[in-house]
Amino acid sequence: MSPFPETAFDVVVIGAGAAGMMCAATAGQRGRRVLLVDHYRKLGEKIRISGGGRCNFTNLHASPANYLSRNPPFCRSALSRYTPQDFIALVDRHRIAWHEKTLGQLFCDGSATQVIELLRAECDAARVKWRMPCEVRGVAREGSRFLIETAAGPVAATSLVIATGGLTVPAIGATPFGYRVAEQFGLAVVPPKPALVPLSLAPETLARYGDLSGVSIDAEVSCRGARFREAILFTHRGLSGPAILQASSYWQDGPAADPLHVNLLPGVDIRAWLGEHRRSKALPATLLAQRLPKRFAVAWCDAHGFVKPVAELPDRSIGEAARGLGDWPVHPSGTLGYNKAEVTLGGVDTRGLSSKTMEAIAVPGLFFIGEVVDVTGHLGGFNFQWAWASGHAAGEAV
Ligand SMILES: Cc1cc2nc3c(=O)[nH]c(=O)nc-3n(C[C@H](O)[C@H](O)[C@H](O)COP(=O)(O)OP(=O)(O)OC[C@H]3O[C@@H](n4cnc5c(N)ncnc54)[C@H](O)[C@@H]3O)c2cc1C
Repeated sequence: MSPFPETAFDVVVIGAGAAGMMCAATAGQRGRRVLLVDHYRKLGEKIRISGGGRCNFTNLHASPANYLSRNPPFCRSALSRYTPQDFIALVDRHRIAWHEKTLGQLFCDGSATQVIELLRAECDAARVKWRMPCEVRGVAREGSRFLIETAAGPVAATSLVIATGGLTVPAIGATPFGYRVAEQFGLAVVPPKPALVPLSLAPETLARYGDLSGVSIDAEVSCRGARFREAILFTHRGLSGPAILQASSYWQDGPAADPLHVNLLPGVDIRAWLGEHRRSKALPATLLAQRLPKRFAVAWCDAHGFVKPVAELPDRSIGEAARGLGDWPVHPSGTLGYNKAEVTLGGVDTRGLSSKTMEAIAVPGLFFIGEVVDVTGHLGGFNFQWAWASGHAAGEAV
């Protein structure tokens, strides 16, 4: 990846992550002369750390319902034109072994670096040029071209694609560059915030539940109309696990924040089950420990004052326990922020972009793809599928 002497391209893509490499390869394969520029020293670092090192590269069930955006229908067109099956075909062509883990989530059998190598090979086959690591100092429009000022000198392009991602994990190269470019050209940006992120609990709640670090419960978590049946995990700072990460994308911070509603016994008729044990001399925590981790059952019963044998509890308390187990309200105090988040909610407002091509409606030749756009997937391979689909849509149009 030595500095490249040419200075005029059909397409310059800034950001060589998932979306940027997909776009560059697609455009290059159409015969466009493409330059990929990235300031970070290692290629595809976000892909390398994804999916616990195995990259959950797509989800068989990806549909617009799996994405959050101020403009929900926006993602439909790109997702329908580059599907999970299209990416699977690419993975198969590169002989990368994969498996379905759960809920349609596809992972590499081996390592996420295989996906990076796939994208690098696709770019090389399409004769994409690289400037990396190379800082981008600014971009400007000059007539019908864009001028890109880089640390290795200026380059010009007919099309400029911004694929610089969101703000998560700044230690591996995330910057707000894409949002600044959008603003420079008069596009609106939906305020970014961390999503798919562990949540913290206030000290008084941690005093009750903080000792449960490592305890996991199969639960159903609801927040603002969204509902996720997966594991919740107690940590020393609060709550994590897939159901909490999913709900975090819907949870709104601030004094008027809604609580999360946790059904601790999903699929169980709790009232009927407690009724069956109405005459039990056991403590409620002992009974609950039949269906929940013992340490959690004890902490939850202590917190709610259910400390007498079940048979001695008044009917009112049994009713309260049933309601509380089915709808345990949890008030997070905040999120663990961009260092621990998987994605960034918000981004370039899609109302200023073409859903077919990702081009800025008011700025011909300027494109935004991937996570920098206000389209955020659920946990489970949906964010990469958006990166592939939006990158492909722009790659076909530049
Ligand atoms: C720990 C973790 C695990 C994840 N696991 C999964 C998973 O298993 N499945 C899934 O679907 N999603 C996963 N995600 C989310 C997924 O990685 C992202 O949604 C996806 O990488 C976004 O692709 P992108 O190309 O838009 O941005 P990125 O992949 O973030 O790429 C952006 C690129 O732009 C470059 N860049 C940034 N600023 C500048 C600048 N100023 N100048 C030049 N270059 C710049 C960066 O160096 C980077 O290479 C995970 C995220 C994290 C943090």
